[in-house]
This record gives sequence, structure tokens and C-alpha cells, in this order.
Amino acid sequence: MGGRIHRISVFAIVLLSLFLAACGQGPSPSGQTGGAGEPASSGALGVVTSITPIADMIRQVGGDRVHATALVPPGADPHDYSPTPADVRTVSQAKLFVANGLGEETYIQKLIQSSGRSDLKIITLSDGLPVLGQGEGGTGNPHMWLDPNYAVKYTEKIRDALIEVDPAGAAEYRSRAQTYIGQLQDLDKWIRSEIAQIPADRRTMVVFHDAWPYFCKEYGLEQVYLAGSSGAEPSPRDYAKIVQTVRDRHVPAVFGEAGFNPKLISRLAEDTGVRFVDNLLDDTVGGPGSATYIDMMKFDVQTIVSALKGSSS
Ligand SMILES: [Zn+2]
Repeated sequence: MGGRIHRISVFAIVLLSLFLAACGQGPSPSGQTGGAGEPASSGALGVVTSITPIADMIRQVGGDRVHATALVPPGADPHDYSPTPADVRTVSQAKLFVANGLGEETYIQKLIQSSGRSDLKIITLSDGLPVLGQGEGGTGNPHMWLDPNYAVKYTEKIRDALIEVDPAGAAEYRSRAQTYIGQLQDLDKWIRSEIAQIPADRRTMVVFHDAWPYFCKEYGLEQVYLAGSSGAEPSPRDYAKIVQTVRDRHVPAVFGEAGFNPKLISRLAEDTGVRFVDNLLDDTVGGPGSATYIDMMKFDVQTIVSALKGSSS
């Protein structure tokens, strides 16, 4: 009798988990990352991260030995992301969690707890790197990956963590990381030569949210933003100041970003009579024109340079 009740409750639990699993299956983030919750195929090492640029770096270093999943689908706002039941399942099967840190994964503790994986190895890529700005909760601005020099540091940390969880792959991880770092260094040189085409008095980048301080500092631009990392909108007084800055500096264009509502930034373009350019990609790898992190950066730099260099008027 007790056995029967037990069987019924087991059946109910199985049904419940099937239901939860089905609910969690949204559209796959991208063909490359593999759907969230998809078991690591052919014994590949399951590695989970928050955003698609980092998933791409993991893939560049890990090759076929790893199966990298980004929890936040491209085009979604990572700053207020809530994990799904499928994410919990993905984490429960993972060997490594690669966090960006600085408030980019506010859900991580809950997620690890729900997945029952207090043993999971977690690395935080921003740890120990020079931090700019305030970011959320005063921890600093999280968007380090938008400077390829930081991406080199990320790559080194990913390489070392993969070697630790999978020592058998050490030689492959080292050699792939070395190749990739070379490509990131080439990207850095290319960005410098591209930015050099923008006249010195036009190097102001007006964007929707505070994602570009690392990029701007490295390449000699000045960032002006409407919303902080948390998406908080400017006060009317701050907005008026930004309008004045755009006018005073004869800024030719302002930029919207994929995953963020373009309403306020396109209004700024209207109020100042400058061009509105959508969509810079902050963390959208896997969409059209951005199959990889390097492609994403090239797309962004070309967009920025062609909008800002213009013909002086
Ligand atoms: Zn952001």
C-alpha cells in the first residue's frame, strides 16, 4: 500500500519535471551555443556562462572538447535576466561556470543552489582586472569584454580553468588559446587603425547605456550615455545636459544597442537633429553579422567609424 503511494508520487514528480523542462525550452540562443538545457553532446565538457561573447571565447579555447552554453539569449538584456528551469538543468550537468562578475550574474547564487551543485567550479573573469566606473551597486562597470585587451585576459583565465577541470586537454587548450590571443591582438591593431579615421574633434560616442567605458578609454573616444548599467533613465536635468553636449560637440550620430529599447536614444536624435544609428551589439554573438566575438567587434567598429567620421559640416 505504502509502495503504491510512493509510486504515484514518483510519477507526479516525473510529470512535474517534464512540465518544467518543457516550459524552459524557449528558442535556442543560437545554433552554436546549443540550446540551454541541451545535454553536453558526445561527452564534451559542459561549460556555462552568462553572455554569448564569453561563450564564444570558451568555444575558441575549448574547441570540440567543450560544449559552451550562454544562459542569456542574444538580444535579451543580461542586466535583469532570470534563469529558466532549463538553465538549472544545464548548470546541474556542467563542469565549470564562467562568470563575468561585476553584477552581470546577479542570479548566480540562487541558480547554483537550485541546481544542487555547490561543488561546481566557478571562475570570475573580471577578478583582479582594472575596473572602471560604478556599475550596479558600486561594484564597477561590467562591460570589460568590449575592449579586446580585456578579452585577452579573459581568454587566459578561461584557458587556465579548462586545464584545471580537464588536464588531459591541456596541450590543446594552450595552443588554441595562443592562436586566439594572436587574433585578438590583430583585432586591437585593426580597431586602432579604424578609429584613426575619425577626426579628433568628432570622437564622442553617444550611446543608450553605459557599456563602452573600457572601449572608449582604450581607443581615445569619449562616451556619453543616457542610461546607467541598470537601465535607469536620466533625470530631465541630466537629459538637457546631454542634449547640450551633443549640440556643443557637433556629434553627428547617436547609437542604439541591441536588446535595449531604442525609444529614449532615438528621441535624443530627434531632439538634437542628428542621425540615429541602431544597433550596436554589446553582448550579441550569434546573430546576423556576429557569428563570433571578433565579428561582433568588427561590426560595431565599422558602424561607429562610418557614423562618426562623416563629412564635416
Ligand atoms: Zn550592459
